[in-house]
Amino acid sequence: MTHPNLEQIALWVEDKLSSPAETQEHMNSGCVPCSEEATRLTNLGPIVREALFSNMPKETQDHLNAVVQTRIESLSAFLVASLVQDSYALEGVRGAATDTRHLRFESGDLAIVLQVEPGPKTGSSNLVGQIYAPDQYDLEGGKVQLLGEKGEALETTSDDLGEFFIDAIPEAPFTVEFSKDELKLRALIP
Ligand SMILES: [Zn+2]
Repeated sequence: MTHPNLEQIALWVEDKLSSPAETQEHMNSGCVPCSEEATRLTNLGPIVREALFSNMPKETQDHLNAVVQTRIESLSAFLVASLVQDSYALEGVRGAATDTRHLRFESGDLAIVLQVEPGPKTGSSNLVGQIYAPDQYDLEGGKVQLLGEKGEALETTSDDLGEFFIDAIPEAPFTVEFSKDELKLRALIP
């Protein structure tokens, strides 16, 4: 497998739709090292602002803020969580529709825990998920989107515990995106 280079990953983080199709395909496949690189790049936005601006006079800060605001916002828009646990990877039973698949994604102090469980119809699957975030985040009413490889798009909202449920989901790979206020987290399910 050929990994995209850092510049290509940065472009994808910033605006995935304008990045080359091969990069999009590779990132959507959930490649772990590339996802981690994307998370690192995503986290750079606030760090760069802090490092650059903390010792400057206020008017210089305001000026720079205005200049780079758009770019930092686009970098901060996506937080790609790293896949840290996948029961299919452990058991080597990928595709076994009778087993519930457990996945865990993390990014800093945020986590997404997902279960892909067999649905009522043969071959169908449901997604049970939960977002974990520090107490200052209000998770109720967050927008949860599932984006499939063939353009499928399913949507639901999270409850006050950050839990959500989507039935009749497409087969993996797919992407799950959570957004609520400034919290925007993405998980790539391989
Ligand atoms: Zn890769």
